[in-house]
Amino acid sequence: MEEIKKLTAGFARFRAKYFVKHPELFDQLSRKGQSPRVMVVACCDSRVDPAIITDSDPGDLFVVRNVANLVPPCEMGGGYHGTSAALEFAARTLEVQHIVILGHSQCGGIQSLLQGIKAVQGDFIIPWMAIADEALQKVNTLHAHAPDATRQRACEQASIQVSLRNLTTFPWVRERVAQGTLHLHGWYFDIDLGELLGYNPDTEHFEILG
Ligand SMILES: [Zn+2]
Repeated sequence: MEEIKKLTAGFARFRAKYFVKHPELFDQLSRKGQSPRVMVVACCDSRVDPAIITDSDPGDLFVVRNVANLVPPCEMGGGYHGTSAALEFAARTLEVQHIVILGHSQCGGIQSLLQGIKAVQGDFIIPWMAIADEALQKVNTLHAHAPDATRQRACEQASIQVSLRNLTTFPWVRERVAQGTLHLHGWYFDIDLGELLGYNPDTEHFEILG
């Protein structure tokens, strides 16, 4: 239970060092509710917490995390659409101004996509990763004989592009992007180098941000 004690001790530190020292922020968040301007679609990976790596405060980011930070295409019926529900709430109710797809290096989900069904146990990951199948096909075409690390990075970044495109299959995203009230971003956190890259649609490359 050491792990859980570490968490509750961490909460006590958060309360003493953060909650108590920012009474205006928490009073406002409590009375007025949340009004984040940014939604982040991030991976479940424990190393890529969006709030930590962007040094954000409570109330700043509306976050959904799933395996490999994927956005599915807009589909009706047939399942529990957790990511789509979060997107819908962010775009239509909160009216966020930005949606960031936050990918990262060393992504286990992308690794499972590259290695195929034999490398993964369980029932859910492989069907979920099929969302990024187009990224896999692209890597197999452009980097068929490249080293594993090159293929992995290329697939991680190509899958961000797939998710960016899938975002525009939701009509309420498409409308807001066309109106200029919603902006879409593809980011890539390089854990090895500690760098944050952003997708530039003009160059079709990921470039260092900030
Ligand atoms: Zn990941």
